[in-house]
Amino acid sequence: MKAIQIVTPGQAPELREVDKPTPGPGQVLLKVTAAGACHSDDFVLNMPAEGFPYPLPMTLGHEGAGVVAAVGSGVTTLSEGTSVAVYGPWGCGVCHFCSRGLENYCPRAAELGIAPPGLGKEGAMAEYLIVDDARHLVPLGDLDPVAAVPLTDAGLTPYHAIKPSLGKLVGGTTAVVIGAGGLGHIGIQLLRHLTPARVIALDVSEDKLSFAREVGAHETVLSDADAVANVRKITGNEGATAVFDFVGLQPTIDTAMGIVGTMGDVVIVGIGDGVAAAKVGFFSQPYEVSVRAPYWGARDELIEVLDLARDGVLEVAVEKFSLDNGLEAYRRLAANELRGRAVVVPD
Ligand code: NAD
Ligand code: ZN
Ligand code: ZN
Repeated sequence: MKAIQIVTPGQAPELREVDKPTPGPGQVLLKVTAAGACHSDDFVLNMPAEGFPYPLPMTLGHEGAGVVAAVGSGVTTLSEGTSVAVYGPWGCGVCHFCSRGLENYCPRAAELGIAPPGLGKEGAMAEYLIVDDARHLVPLGDLDPVAAVPLTDAGLTPYHAIKPSLGKLVGGTTAVVIGAGGLGHIGIQLLRHLTPARVIALDVSEDKLSFAREVGAHETVLSDADAVANVRKITGNEGATAVFDFVGLQPTIDTAMGIVGTMGDVVIVGIGDGVAAAKVGFFSQPYEVSVRAPYWGARDELIEVLDLARDGVLEVAVEKFSLDNGLEAYRRLAANELRGRAVVVPD
């Protein structure tokens, strides 16, 4: 079968011919219906070869959807032909975090050799995908897999990032989204649907800002050296109640820390260059600001996000690519030429 793989760190991914896998005990084989390309893939592709954390070559794709093609022995909860989305941050399933659905924070995953598809295990950018456990699949029902697949990360991650701030985002407050890309454009919609807050979006071009307004941002501000002053013109001295940084570079983290108000939240979701950080101290930011850097989301939250999509409140912007043309999706992702999410669909 065909698969898009990272072969050499620092170089473009490759479309290669690999063996079609067969499901072992407890595993599920999916015929892939859609796979989303995430900016984290670009980060992985550019990690140095020395100390590269994953086995190579490795099939990319940690946003996956498919139809159950075969099940391994012992799998009784799913049947062939069911359309499903993959919950990607696989954990052990039995520890305290996993028991709460927070498999993204499983403390035992590494020692047990458990890793997400596309981030340690073979990913979804292929004709077939092995899922390690039926627990990691959520039936899609009538949802279109192409529109739904970004929800497994570009929807789930902002949802998990926003949820702890919901209690603060009451009437009259402001929420800021930095980076209206794959994650950010769904983050804006989640904020609009789940809160009465005014939503301000920041990005680097007029095109991106008009896209942010189309998906629901009340106001937009160019993400440049004047961003703090320009956001403060809108929020006044109160500042923002919650800032969600879907970029995570030093300038955007600095902007986030510069616009957050007293008792506000700064939520760093973007990985940026991998080293940027917020400086926190008594005199560094307004009183009682909280800073957190969440990773992906919980299993129950994926079900919630898919239910929101079923309710028709999430409009995922998708640019579709065939598997044969999938390398172009990664090229456009790296060049910041996408509107929303790139989704690869095997023929
Ligand atoms: P994307 O490429 O789809 O979108 C990035 C957006 O940020 C684009 O609209 C781009 O124009 C904008 N941008 C770039 N530089 C900017 C700047 N200086 N100021 C404002 N906007 C800027 O990326 P994505 O797939 O949405 O991922 C966003 C980030 O989140 C990446 O760093 C990715 O690795 C990370 N991520 C983290 C998690 C997590 O669990 N924490 C999960 C998924 C992705
Ligand atoms: Zn991702
Ligand atoms: Zn666990």
